[in-house]
Amino acid sequence: MSERFSPTGTLLGMFTDTITTPDLTWQREALCAQTGADFFFPEPGSSVRDAKRICGLCPIRSACLDYALTHDERFGVWGGLSEKERLHLRRTSS
Ligand code: SF4
Repeated sequence: MSERFSPTGTLLGMFTDTITTPDLTWQREALCAQTGADFFFPEPGSSVRDAKRICGLCPIRSACLDYALTHDERFGVWGGLSEKERLHLRRTSS
């Protein structure tokens, strides 16, 4: 499973393990788990084109985007959308 999804042993991983037990089995198919998180959390001002290209091939893109929107993920590319694109989606859909 990708490190971006709070693996066991991280502070956030421990938090989510003890507070809630959401069904995260969909994350096993995450293409980003095979590429590493660097593409998905680029330095400010860097391109997210490569991450978005990978997301475009990912079988769980929709579930990933739902997760990011539900959990208010502020950083990185999730479900093929950048931080700004998710913010815009949130503002226009509420
Ligand atoms: S849609 Fe993109 S960020 Fe989400 S799991 Fe797939 S590759 Fe990772």
